[in-house]
Amino acid sequence: MKNIYIIGVGLIGGSLAIDIKKNNPETVIYGISRKDSTLETALSLNLIDKKATLDDVEKADLVIVSIPVDATVKLLPTILDKIPDNGLVVDAGSTKEDICKAVENHPKRRNFLAMHPIAGTEHSGPNAAISGLFVGKTNIICEVEKTAFKLQEKALKLFADVGMRMRYMNPVAHDKHIAYMSHLSHISAFMLGKTVIDKERNERDIFDMAGSGFASTVRLAKSSPEMWTPIFKQNKTNVIETLEEYITNLTHFKELMQQDDFDAIFNEMKDTNYIKEILKPLLTSPKGMDAHS
Ligand code: NAP
Repeated sequence: MKNIYIIGVGLIGGSLAIDIKKNNPETVIYGISRKDSTLETALSLNLIDKKATLDDVEKADLVIVSIPVDATVKLLPTILDKIPDNGLVVDAGSTKEDICKAVENHPKRRNFLAMHPIAGTEHSGPNAAISGLFVGKTNIICEVEKTAFKLQEKALKLFADVGMRMRYMNPVAHDKHIAYMSHLSHISAFMLGKTVIDKERNERDIFDMAGSGFASTVRLAKSSPEMWTPIFKQNKTNVIETLEEYITNLTHFKELMQQDDFDAIFNEMKDTNYIKEILKPLLTSPKGMDAHS
């Protein structure tokens, strides 16, 4: 993997660039983006060695696509058309079904690997890129059997070397589970933020009264709408299903309050404390609770 091209040098692409370069100093990392100013920032932060354009991927050993998922679906077939016969294209998108479908009949399907690193922060763009983002995190790989074995081996080693453990799933199951584990949390944070902003117009009051509970719960509402709108669009059916279940639970909680049934409310919370057990491994992982989409 001497020549690695990263399309989208933001949080995910930039963070991968830092640690891949650290582990493989001889590799040349090229950046490709829509805006030249983004590539200039990536260069000044030493995320990439050189700027490149889409046509240059004909010289790539590896192309990592880390742009919004709607742009990924559009661009992937063109990138596969351009890469050499022994080149590999990997995407980092937070949805997998539409992305896998976009290349299912491509003559170079064996040169593509679908992945979703379950790591991130609420920040975006090249300035958000950090070293060590992927340490101890899960990388979900979809349809691994459709990728040429030699290319799989090289890519999986590269991602294991930045600290990720691989987990294998089909794209449909991925999108269903991730709707619960990530997409619902983001909607919940966005709407919690909206509820408070709508009512508490005075920013000073919000600032003075917002304890760490509010700040940590609403953290994901700082995430980029440019990245999240296409995710909700591609995973609409699953996301609506999670929202319906969530709204049912909220309504039930409200009804218990209206009925003064505080024993039932106590029990609801007690039962949900079980989340502590479920999240124990994550809380003791090297980077704690940073993981999200
Ligand atoms: P990000 O920080 O916003 O970076 C995305 C970059 O892509 C931007 O710097 C943008 O650069 C560039 N870009 C946008 N549209 C483009 C296009 N059409 N062509 C070329 N470049 C384009 O986003 P991110 O958080 O790294 O997310 C990247 C991908 O990883 C997404 O598919 C996301 O679903 C997935 N992902 C995100 C997370 C997370 O927690 N954030 C976690 C796992 C996976 P310009 O300034 O040039 O537009």
